[in-house]
Amino acid sequence: MTSNFSRLSDDDLATCVHCGLCLDACPTFRITGLETESPRGRIYLMTQWKRGTLEFDQEQVKHIDLCLGCRTCEAVCPSGVPYGRIIEAGRADVEDARRPAPKRLGSRLALRQLVAHPARLRLAGNATRLAQRLHLTSIARSGRMLPRLRARYCPPEGNIAPAFGERKHRVAFLVGCVMPILYPQSHYAAVKLLQLAGCEVWFPPGERCCGALFAHNGDLKGAERLREANTKTYRAGSFDALVVDSAGCGAHLKDFYPELKGRVKDLTEWLAEVGIPAPQKKVKVRVTYQDACHLAHAQRIKKQPRDLIRAVDGIEFVEMRHADICCGAAGLYSTLEPDMSQRILDQKLEDVLATKAEVVTVANPGCQMQLEAGLRARGSNMKVEHVAETLMRAF
Ligand code: SF4
Ligand code: SF4
Repeated sequence: MTSNFSRLSDDDLATCVHCGLCLDACPTFRITGLETESPRGRIYLMTQWKRGTLEFDQEQVKHIDLCLGCRTCEAVCPSGVPYGRIIEAGRADVEDARRPAPKRLGSRLALRQLVAHPARLRLAGNATRLAQRLHLTSIARSGRMLPRLRARYCPPEGNIAPAFGERKHRVAFLVGCVMPILYPQSHYAAVKLLQLAGCEVWFPPGERCCGALFAHNGDLKGAERLREANTKTYRAGSFDALVVDSAGCGAHLKDFYPELKGRVKDLTEWLAEVGIPAPQKKVKVRVTYQDACHLAHAQRIKKQPRDLIRAVDGIEFVEMRHADICCGAAGLYSTLEPDMSQRILDQKLEDVLATKAEVVTVANPGCQMQLEAGLRARGSNMKVEHVAETLMRAF
């Protein structure tokens, strides 16, 4: 039997020694208890397809579809399995081999025709904002999940935000595709923090979506096109670091943009490195923190956000049980796999509510949207906010 699985690497797949130590960390295995919904099961399936020892079966694809791509398995694997790389390549191969599924074709079309084009995305944001004001929001699940949209984030005049006080660093900032529309307040807070930290912030003109959503959904060609366009843009400027306040985008830029090697920094990683001035006021709030998978597992950043939050005078920080287990958002997963996403969210909400926190701090817009929707549905008034907003409470 021949195999068309050309992107999957035999070497990568061979790193799995089938020990099973990743199973209990995998959110879909924790829900179902099924080997087929575990990292080991998925690696086995992809290996057989790659070797051509198992015929490609449209029904089996659902085990790959149900993977969140959260990379928790990669973080706990003693054998160094590069699961993120495996699932991205596997998904791209599967998309070539499978019978087109209408929902997935629709999401690919939306990514290519909307998300990749900033002007069209702005129009869609304006239309959604208007529909919300007129109470015309779609009753579809994705519509219900959207936050109430504010005016979108706009970079300052001249695409430069000056450092407050002495300029110590020059950073580029990723504005991204959906974040300036969904959560402009996160960007405003992040940029203020950078200015307070002595950074001149440059907003690369013409910068587009980084391509993370494309790559995570098996559209590597779409992701490559965006990388090409963005790389040209980044070459036009000089900067010490490209600061990113969305964990999924940061992980993708670190893995997929070789020219930026070592210069992509998550906001919390960068602030921990360069330092922020002492808080100006005392804050009285009980805060818990939900790890973003692409920050905790893909970028291995767990300590910095917690240290920064704890350093705010007056914050009562309470650690959540299973804080580093996925909330079920995972990019487009909550739209493409709503049932599994909801089951994972239900478990997560138990842990969130048990903290009795007033604020859940996050580092990724997908997690924010998922937790907000879940808490709203449970009638909770717990606030979900970006880590930059939590830190800005002190200034
Ligand atoms: S992915 Fe890693 S932890 Fe999981 S079974 Fe394979 S070697 Fe073991
Ligand atoms: S990426 Fe997440 S959902 Fe997928 S196999 Fe690994 S732990 Fe499970």
